[in-house]
Amino acid sequence: MPELPEVEVTRLGLLMSLPGRCVTKISSSNKRLRLPVPRKLLGEYVLGSAIATIDRRAKYLLFRMQNGAIMVIHLGMTRKLGLIASTTPPAPHDHLRLLLDDTMELRFNDSRRFGCVLVWTPREAEAMEAEFDARLGVEPFSRKFNMQYLRQQGCSRKTAIKNFLMDGRVVAGIGNIYANEILFAASIHPLTPAGLLAPGQWQAVIASTRRILKQAIRSGGSTISDFLGSSGNPGYFQVQFKVYHRGDEKCHQCNNIISKIIVGGRATFFCPYCQPIKTE
Ligand SMILES: [Zn+2]
Repeated sequence: MPELPEVEVTRLGLLMSLPGRCVTKISSSNKRLRLPVPRKLLGEYVLGSAIATIDRRAKYLLFRMQNGAIMVIHLGMTRKLGLIASTTPPAPHDHLRLLLDDTMELRFNDSRRFGCVLVWTPREAEAMEAEFDARLGVEPFSRKFNMQYLRQQGCSRKTAIKNFLMDGRVVAGIGNIYANEILFAASIHPLTPAGLLAPGQWQAVIASTRRILKQAIRSGGSTISDFLGSSGNPGYFQVQFKVYHRGDEKCHQCNNIISKIIVGGRATFFCPYCQPIKTE
């Protein structure tokens, strides 16, 4: 599943050519995604309107139309949202196609149909966005992602720090891959109860989160112009993961063997030496 860096790189790629473009035709499959595609609203508020800019909130992309409407897209399990020449034949699972006035097409390809498309009308956009924003955790790059906030959210929690970081109501956009990497970088055992983290450890979580996510965004930059990829599936960035998917391999930092356990149903990797457990 794309995490914050993958969604951000998709946004940066689209930002290079989408603002100012007008949507001249919309085609959608009849298939239902996580929610039905709002064809009527797309026809009323996106068709014939220009895209002003694209923002991201958590793992949602917000396409702000010049008429004040907002088209929201969640990628679900795919990264296949990109611009392609409109002469390219449609592929299976192309569920939404927006033809633009420069003959390019914005295509959303979602084979597993976990994605979703929403349209907020100009009249409701502001209120909908505020309500949406309130339901999501803080952005890791915002000032609100600070020690006071994290300690307050985590102080009474017995929840493992890894699950805490992956809780989208606390912090936006961190999934399994980056949670593993962040905790290794912060030298914190993934099972440590969130309520037991010392102030210095929270600071390490904050600094590592920002550093790891920034690195991932930067390493994804090279795929920007080609994010539909020749294979159609570029997958995750070719970042050098320190622990993720490295069970039974040697830790680059200490040469001990990396462990794999299951936490909250997800594969969890850590170095028992570099990330000692703290239980009280
Ligand atoms: Zn180690």
